[in-house]
Amino acid sequence: MTARILIVDDVPANMRLLDAKLSAEYYQVATARNGAEALDIARSWQPDLILLDVMMPGMDGYECCRKLKAEAETLHIPVVMVTALGDTSERLRGLEAGADDFLTKPVEYDTLMARVRSLVRLKRVLDEWRARGETARTLGLSLDKQLTPSIAGARALLIDDWDLGAEVVTAALLQDGVSSIRAKSAADMRAALAQAPVDLVVVSLSLLADDPLKLIAALRAGDGTHDVPLLIMADPVERERILRGFALGASDWLTLPVDPNELRARARNQLRRKLYQDRLRADLGTALEMALTDPLTGLYNQRYLRRHLNGLLEGGAARELSLLMLDVDHFKSVNDECGHATGDRALRLIAETLRDNMRMSDSIARYGGEEFVVLMPAAGPTDALIVAEQLRRSVQDLAFFTGKGDRRPLTISIGIACTHGQPTKPDALLRAADQALYAAKRNGRNQVVMGAAPDAM
Ligand code: GH3
Ligand code: MG
Ligand code: MG
Repeated sequence: MTARILIVDDVPANMRLLDAKLSAEYYQVATARNGAEALDIARSWQPDLILLDVMMPGMDGYECCRKLKAEAETLHIPVVMVTALGDTSERLRGLEAGADDFLTKPVEYDTLMARVRSLVRLKRVLDEWRARGETARTLGLSLDKQLTPSIAGARALLIDDWDLGAEVVTAALLQDGVSSIRAKSAADMRAALAQAPVDLVVVSLSLLADDPLKLIAALRAGDGTHDVPLLIMADPVERERILRGFALGASDWLTLPVDPNELRARARNQLRRKLYQDRLRADLGTALEMALTDPLTGLYNQRYLRRHLNGLLEGGAARELSLLMLDVDHFKSVNDECGHATGDRALRLIAETLRDNMRMSDSIARYGGEEFVVLMPAAGPTDALIVAEQLRRSVQDLAFFTGKGDRRPLTISIGIACTHGQPTKPDALLRAADQALYAAKRNGRNQVVMGAAPDAM
C-alpha cells in the first residue's frame, strides 16, 4: 500500500534520512523546511501522513499541527510529531495540539514503518468515511451518522500481570472514557472475551503466566477478535519478539514502561479506525436492505422479487410453485376522495394484513404502486386458491377509517399462476398471473381467478 508522506524538518540531514527510508519502501515523499511551507504543501498535495518535527525556528511543530487541524482541507490528515527522546511533556503538548501519533528521535526504522502503515490504514478508512459524507450531502440526506464517532464508552482488554503497569494503562485509557477489563493469564482472557466483546486489546510482552505471543495468535484466530486492534507493550530490547508480534497481526506497539500520553494517542487511533470500520460495515448492511425493500410498507420490492423468482426457476427447474398477483380495487378513488396520506395509510394496513395472513414459507413483495406479489414455493393450485381466498377475505374484513372518521371498505383482486411442476420462465409466470388478475377485475373485482397454465419453455 503506497501513500504520500510529507516530511517537515528544518535540519536537512534529518529530512534526507527519513526521505531515503520512506522512498526505499516506495512511499511518495515531499519535504518542507518550515511550518508555513508545510501548510502550503499539505493543502495542495493532500498527503496521507505528515511527519512533523517539533523544534523548528519560527512556527514550531505544535503551532503548525494546530493550524493543520483547524483547517477543513487538512484536518483529516494524520500528523506524527517527531519529538526528543523521553520528553513526556512534549507528548502531552502534542496531543493537545491534535497530533495523532509520536515518534522519538533518533527515528528507529521498524518503528517508523509500523507507525506509517498503521496511520495510512486509518487514513484510508477516514477517506472512505469522508467520501460517504459527501455523497450523503449531495443526496440531501441527514448527516447525523457522519459525525465523528466518540471513542468514549469503548471497552479494552488489558492483558498484563504487572499490577503497577496495569494501573497506569487503566488510568490513561479512562481519561478518554475507555474502560478496561484486566486479564492476567490466557484463562482470564478467555473468560473476559466470553462475557462481552472488546474494541481494543492491550497486551504486555512481559507477561509471565503465559506466552503473550501465543495469546496474540489465539486472538487473531478467534472469531470475534480477529480484527480487533491489538497494541503490544514491550521493552525495546525485545526487538525480535516485537517483530514476531507484528507478524502475528499486532496493530502497533509501545515502549514499557508506558508513557500515558503515547498510549492514549495510539489507543485513540486504533479505536477510531475500528469504530469507523464498524459503522461503514453496518451502513453497508443498511444500504443492502434499502436496495431490496420498499420504504412505505417494509415489504420486499420488485427487484428482490424478480431475483428470488429467477433463483427458484433457474435453469428450467421443474418445480411446483405458485404466484399470486394482487391489486387494490378502485384505489385511485381512495386517493382522490381521502387524500394521498390516507392512501398511504391504507397501503400500509393492507401490506400488514397480507403479511399476517400469509404462510411462513411464502414471501411477499410490493410489486408496484398498489400491486403486490406473493410467491408460494412448493404450492400447487389447490393451496394457492386457499391462500388467495384467505388474503382476499382478510382485506375485505379490514376496518379502515379515513381521516374524517368514516369507515372505508377496501378490497383486492387476485390472479393466480402455477407452474404445475413444469419448467417455466419467470416472465411467463408473471404474465399468466397478470392476465388472471385482469380477468378478476373485469368480472367485477374483489375476487380470485385461477389463471391458465403459463407458456411452456
Ligand atoms: P382498479 O380497481 O382497476 O385497480 O382501479 P385503481 O384505481 O386501483 O387502479 P389505477 O391503476 O387506475 O390507480 C392506482 C392508483 O394507485 C393510482 C395511484 O395514484 C395510486 N398509488 C400508487 N402508488 C401509491 C402510493 O404509494 N401511495 C398512494 N397514496 N397512492 C398510490
Ligand atoms: Mg388498483
Ligand atoms: Mg394497479
